[in-house]
Amino acid sequence: MISPDGMVARNRWMWFSFVCLAAASALLSPGAMAKDRGSCTPGTTLRLGAPESSQGSLLLIEVKSAKPLAEVQGDWDGRTVPFWRESASETRRKGLLAVDLEKAPGEYDLKVTGQTASGEKISCSARVRVRKGRFATEKLQVGKQFVEPSPEQIKRADEERQKLRDIFDRVTPERLWDGKFRIPLEGVATGSNFGRRRILNGNPGSPHGGVDLPGATGTPVHATQRGRVVLAEELFFAGNTVVVDHGLGIYTLYGHLSEIDAKVGDELAAGAVLGKVGATGRVTGPHLHWGLTVERARVNPLQLVRLLGNSSGAAARQKSSKHRTN
Ligand SMILES: [Zn+2]
Repeated sequence: MISPDGMVARNRWMWFSFVCLAAASALLSPGAMAKDRGSCTPGTTLRLGAPESSQGSLLLIEVKSAKPLAEVQGDWDGRTVPFWRESASETRRKGLLAVDLEKAPGEYDLKVTGQTASGEKISCSARVRVRKGRFATEKLQVGKQFVEPSPEQIKRADEERQKLRDIFDRVTPERLWDGKFRIPLEGVATGSNFGRRRILNGNPGSPHGGVDLPGATGTPVHATQRGRVVLAEELFFAGNTVVVDHGLGIYTLYGHLSEIDAKVGDELAAGAVLGKVGATGRVTGPHLHWGLTVERARVNPLQLVRLLGNSSGAAARQKSSKHRTN
């Protein structure tokens, strides 16, 4: 579920190193080198959490340098890859490559550039293949007003979509999170429906951009990590919704809340209660809709917990119960 294609090892990373082979690169064209092995300037290493990715997935990246690093940036097919420094290590940066749910399968160039503290330029390149995600199709009967909304409702939904897009386009340059990411409901270990193609009353709808977590109305909803509230209001489709900015283009969304317990501008601590589970908006029963956007790419939030989360928590070992979908 979290890693439907099994690309990430359960307990530890499978590292695939792109080691600098300066001598070999002299014999090959840069394109061929990047395609086959990835390439870096001498003294720098690029490692990917898996050799390829799939639609709606996150790939963890690490750049290591022989010298202390001052800055690192990444670009993957025109999208920024956020990098950050963890702990006291001056020679490493971690990054997250996010593949949107609907990104066309294929091979895309990853380019990482940066500078050491002493002013030397570094760079790495690799090709990252995206495979088609395996998503289910679900058929639902919902209220007619949601399938055939009135002109006013269409206008409202369009405005709200644009508002969310504007939020996700803004990248807070500093990392606001600090520590491990968690699932927002206590005692819930997994969720469902990510990427599911929905057929509403016989008409194909847009893919489901988050996971649905089981929970009864009134269950406290916790912020997955530290961040700033950038939206806290009722939306046509998602009902009462809170969006948290974690910095570096990483946003989490919490939908269908019965109650919102946060306001725009609030600085939330990791795990702070931001609302309660409910059934507002387009739903057939109470649950939490949890979404993750990284640099505008819609990805499975459970992967954030798997890659940057606490896998040893008691909650993570519990089995989730059945719940109703939206
Ligand atoms: Zn949902």
